[in-house]
Amino acid sequence: MVEARGVRKSFGDLEVLKGIDLTVQQGEVVSFLGPSGSGKSTFLRCINHLERIDGGEISVNGHLVGYRRHNGKKYELKPKEVAAARRDVGMVFQRFNLFPHLTAIENVMEAPVFVKGLSRAEAKASAQDLLERVGLGDKPAVYPSALSGGQQQRVAIARALAMKPKLMLFDEPTSALDPELVGEVLDVMKSLAGEGMTMIVVTHEIGFAREVCDRVVFMDGGVIVEAGSPREVLVAPQHDRTKSFLSKVL
Ligand code: ADP
Ligand code: MG
Repeated sequence: MVEARGVRKSFGDLEVLKGIDLTVQQGEVVSFLGPSGSGKSTFLRCINHLERIDGGEISVNGHLVGYRRHNGKKYELKPKEVAAARRDVGMVFQRFNLFPHLTAIENVMEAPVFVKGLSRAEAKASAQDLLERVGLGDKPAVYPSALSGGQQQRVAIARALAMKPKLMLFDEPTSALDPELVGEVLDVMKSLAGEGMTMIVVTHEIGFAREVCDRVVFMDGGVIVEAGSPREVLVAPQHDRTKSFLSKVL
């Protein structure tokens, strides 16, 4: 589902990604851990066409990110083609970024109606199903300001799922939440993982990584320091940098 080879990205003189290699199989759930500033968000943003990479290649579901190949040559995607490619990928951020002037269900319907051109009736029926899936079937008409942070984040997940993505990217989805609201969001992510969704999750929730993820990747200073099963990386890490990070977050 995701194939990254030698991915490099700089901001000015600052090299943030220094050759990232990663393969994620369909249905796999991979968590990214690492100190702040190590390049985790940048890497997710590169996968989702939000940053242009300076070197290497990424493909999602067999399609090269940012380019298409034709007769052996690479051509940059046009904005329309980028928009089409991005529909395969759903992203959930630390800040929920719901539209404040739209109700929960209208937030979920927005992209299917305005991007995919679904009728409002069709979009509404599937948005209601999605709200039920994230445990908010009784809140379609509620505005974001009247929802808790955990509920808003679950609407954000439903909104991302509304475009029927093949891959879901989560960037610290619970970091902005009060501790008592973290569990309800992780539970939704866990059930999504159980349904076979391919997911890359940047998180400091070690319990989630251990319990739900197939693979854990530890990143520091723009490189993948180590990657392996949750047991390998979280219980028996090989590198001092991983050990030192884990001793701080555990
Ligand atoms: P992480 O998510 O692991 O905390 P980020 O990918 O957000 O790390 O950031 C990695 C580095 O890149 C940081 O030093 C950050 O300041 C820098 N950075 C991120 N985005 C930009 C940007 N748009 N312009 C300049 N520097 C950036
Ligand atoms: Mg980040």
